[in-house]
This record gives sequence, C-alpha cells and structure tokens, in this order.
Amino acid sequence: MKALYYDEQKGPAAIKAGDFPAPEPAANEVLVRVKAFSLNHLDAWIMTGNYPAKVPLPHIFGSDASGIVEKAGAGVRHAKPGDEVIVFPGLSCGRCERCLSGHDNECRDFSLLGVITPGVSAEYVKVREENIFFKPAGLSFEEASGIGITYSTAWNSLVLRAGIRQGDTLLIHGGGSGAGTALIQVAKLYHALVIATVGDDWKIAKAKELGADHVINHRREDVVEAVKRITKGELVDIAVDHVGAATFNQSVSGLKKGGKLVTFGATSGDEVKVSLRHVFGKNITIHGVYVGPKASVAQLLRLFPHQLKTVIDSVFEFNDAQKAYEKLLSRQVFGKIVVRV
Ligand SMILES: [Zn+2]
Repeated sequence: MKALYYDEQKGPAAIKAGDFPAPEPAANEVLVRVKAFSLNHLDAWIMTGNYPAKVPLPHIFGSDASGIVEKAGAGVRHAKPGDEVIVFPGLSCGRCERCLSGHDNECRDFSLLGVITPGVSAEYVKVREENIFFKPAGLSFEEASGIGITYSTAWNSLVLRAGIRQGDTLLIHGGGSGAGTALIQVAKLYHALVIATVGDDWKIAKAKELGADHVINHRREDVVEAVKRITKGELVDIAVDHVGAATFNQSVSGLKKGGKLVTFGATSGDEVKVSLRHVFGKNITIHGVYVGPKASVAQLLRLFPHQLKTVIDSVFEFNDAQKAYEKLLSRQVFGKIVVRV
C-alpha cells in the first residue's frame, strides 16, 4: 500500500511517500481503506520530536481518519466490507474498571492510534471493531475525518467534565483552532454565551458565524479586561484552555467563583506559575482532559450534520501532506486541515 511516513522526527519536511505491506486484520479487527485523514497538533508534536513517548521509526502517522471497510476479521459482528466509517483513535484494554465504566480514555493502557502504532496516513489501517463508528449520512469523508479527537475532546470537556448548563458563560481560547470550532458549536447547543479569542482579525467574522457571541483578538486586547467588560464583572462559568502557558492565568482570572477550568493542550508551553490562592480562594475546579471516551463519539455523532459540523479550513492531496502540516504549524488556520488519500 502507499503510505506517508517519516524516519526522523524533524518536522513536516521529513515526510515521504513510500510502499509498505498492507496490514492484515486479526479476528476482532477490521481493515479500513482510508479515504481522508485530518491533522491534529498531536501529529505535529510527535513529528517534530516534542512528544514524551518513543516512536518506532519509520513511522506512519496521523490519528483521525474516515474510510470504507475493506475486510472484516472472522470475529467481527457489527461491520462488513463496504461500510463507510470513522476511525476513532482511542486504544484501550477494554477490560479494566475504567474501560468497563465508559471511561476508556482513562485506561492505564490508553494510547492513540498513530502515536506508537502505525497511523492513518496510508491507504489502509487496521483497528479493532470497537474503534469504528458508522459515518453519519450526509457527511463527506473529509468532514467525517475531522470529528474524532477534536469533537470527543470538546464533548468530554464541556458536557462530561465541566457539566455545562443551559445559559452558562464560557471563555474559549483559540477559537479558530479545530478544537475551538468544535467547542463553540457544542457550547451553543447549550445556549451558552461564548467569548472566544483569536490571534488574527480575519478569524473574528468566522468565529462569530459559528456562533461565538464575542470574539477578542488577544494580540490587540487584554483578554481578562474584555471578559470583565462583556460580562459586566460577573466573569465566566467555564474557561477552556488548550493554549497553556500563555493563557492559563487569564483563564484563572476570568473565572467566577465556583468556575471550572478545562485544560487539554499546551501549544504555548506546559509549565505555568499559578497562584493557588486564586484557585482555592475562588473555589475553582481544574479538569485535565485527554481526548474523550468512545461513548462520547457514539453520542455526538447523532448531532452530525445538522446540529454540529466539521469546520474545514483546507483539503490537501496525498502528495501535499508536507504543505498541510506546514500550514497547521503556521497557525493561519480556521478549523481542520484534511488530507485526501
Ligand atoms: Zn482498560
């Protein structure tokens, strides 16, 4: 099969195309013919050597994909060749207490497809049957490929962990990122008042079109002052922070007493100096979130394509994957970047 891979972790420039043997599915696995995969910052961190785990090289990368079932193992009961599916990358043991209670993303064996196992940047990928979900009708393969990590993380953050309530006020950093576009939409399902931040003026209208009530360019305006002005000093119920070092204290300051801070990324750095007095003095709850459980995917897929949509920034052809990752790293992106396979 044709595949995109790298044999050194030196960024997008090291991506090459080559031939690999197609994987053979075991009895409980399916082989999926990949039609499209979407980019996550996780792929870029691994590719640039900024991920703590050791990655076997050469590495076929990428975690989120959509495609068509090509072959199903003898023990597979719920999928057959020809089914159009989404590949969800959360890998877990399936037997421990966390897995059995629907928190498989908290399994001690939890990992993501494409991190230390071969990923989706290839014609074929094999996964266990429980890692595929049927593609909702009316969704293109490109749109379907952008759902997995992005939406399960957004859903887990707001619905399962922070317990968003109707009419809450939210601060969403990085409103133009893939995660930001998902968070804005999930928040609006709850009629929340959404304050989103962006780093470029051209993203303001797009974030508003998606439902954000107020959009702040953090390069031109002080985020905490803007939150105070917009909320008339009441501050926000939930702050979602995947930027990290540059924004974490803005989130703490922007939260009202009893507020919830969700953190699931650290694109600006992962070490932060925080005043604990502010955390306990305001009764703040901090939720660390790493992706979402499989159950969240089953639940949120029912809302596609009418109540939720994948915001696609751009689609690249297979041989232009280097350019796709360069674009992701440039941050001149609104929504998801997709590569056709
Ligand atoms: Zn487990």
